[in-house]
Amino acid sequence: MSEVEKVVIIGSGCAGLTAAIYASRTALSPLVIGGPQPGGQLTLTNEVENFPGFPDGINGFDLMTNMRSQAERFGTRFVDDEVKDVDFERDIKKIICGHDTYPSKAVIIATGASPKFLGVKGEKEFFGGKGVSVCATCDGAFYKGKDVAVVGGGDTACEEALFLTNFCAKVYLIHRRDTLKASKLMGERVLGNAKIVPMWNSIVEEIIGSDRVSGIRIENIQNKSKIEIACSGVFMAVGHIPNTQQFAKCLRLDGNGYFCRKEGSFVETDIDGVFVAGDCADKIYRQAVTSAGTGAMAAILAEKYICKKF
Ligand code: NDP
Repeated sequence: MSEVEKVVIIGSGCAGLTAAIYASRTALSPLVIGGPQPGGQLTLTNEVENFPGFPDGINGFDLMTNMRSQAERFGTRFVDDEVKDVDFERDIKKIICGHDTYPSKAVIIATGASPKFLGVKGEKEFFGGKGVSVCATCDGAFYKGKDVAVVGGGDTACEEALFLTNFCAKVYLIHRRDTLKASKLMGERVLGNAKIVPMWNSIVEEIIGSDRVSGIRIENIQNKSKIEIACSGVFMAVGHIPNTQQFAKCLRLDGNGYFCRKEGSFVETDIDGVFVAGDCADKIYRQAVTSAGTGAMAAILAEKYICKKF
C-alpha cells in the first residue's frame, strides 16, 4: 500500500484535471488515477468550440493535454491505474486499484459518464469527426445547412434535435417508439418545430458512407420496411451511463445511476471528505465548462476539509 495521500482524484477528464490544477495550487500535491479513458470524453470529440478562451476552437485531445500539463506544472502526479473498489469507512479512505491501494485523506471522484452506442455498422468507423457524434453542442455547428439525424426519444435527443435546428436544414429524429420519452414540454417543442422530422417506430440498421457519413438505413419495426435517408451527420442520444458502479456500495446513486449530492451542495456527498465532480454527478448540463467548474469546487472544498479535519 502507498503512503497516505492528501487528496486522490479519480478520473482524468475535464473535472478531474481541473480539480488537480486547483488542488495542486494549494500545495495538496494530488494524485490522479487516470482511469480507463485518460482525458475523458473530450478526447473523443474533434473540435471543441465552446470552451471559453479559445476563439478559434481547440481540438479536444489538445485541450486535455494542455490541462494535464497545467496540473503537472503545479505538482500533480498521475498513475495509470483503474479503481476496482473503495473503502470509505474511516477518516483515511482507501482506493483499491488494479496495481496498488491508495490511502487518502480526501477523495474527488470525477469518473464521468460514457455515452451509450447502438452497436450498428458504421457507428465506430465514422465516430469522431467523420459524421457520428454524441454531442450536438460540441459538433452541431459543423453541419450548417446540412441534413442530420438524431437517434433517441428522451430529453437528450430532443435537446440535441432542437439545438441542431439552429444550424441544420432538416433534423430527422429516429425513435424506436411512436411516442417520445422526453418531458411533455420538450416533446411539444420538438413536434412543433418544422425542421424536425420524426421517424417513429424506427431503428437504425446501418450508418452508410465511404470516408464519412452520407446516410443511414432505418427499419420500421412495425411493418419491417427499410428506407435510406441521406444525411451528413448522425447524433447518438440514446442515453449515458455514469461511471459510478464501483462506488455504489458506499455512495447514494439516483435512479439513473448518477451520484446524489448532499442537499444544497454541487460536489459534497454524504461522506465527509468524499467529493464528486463532472458528468458522474450531472445529468443535465454535461459540458466541459460545467465539469471544470465542479472540479474546481471539489478541490476548494477538499482543501478546506483537510485543513479542518487533520
Ligand atoms: P433516456 O434514458 O431518458 O432516453 C434514452 C432514449 O434513447 C429513449 O428514448 C430510449 O428509447 C432510446 N434508446 C435507448 N437505447 C436505445 C437503443 N439501443 N436503440 C434505440 N433507442 C434507444 O436518456 P436521456 O439521455 O435522454 O436522459 C437521461 C436523463 O437525463 C433523463 O432523466 C432526462 O430527463 C434527463 N435530462 C434532462 C434534461 C433537462 O432537464 N434539460 C436534458 C437531458 C436529459 P425508449 O424510449 O424506448 O426507452
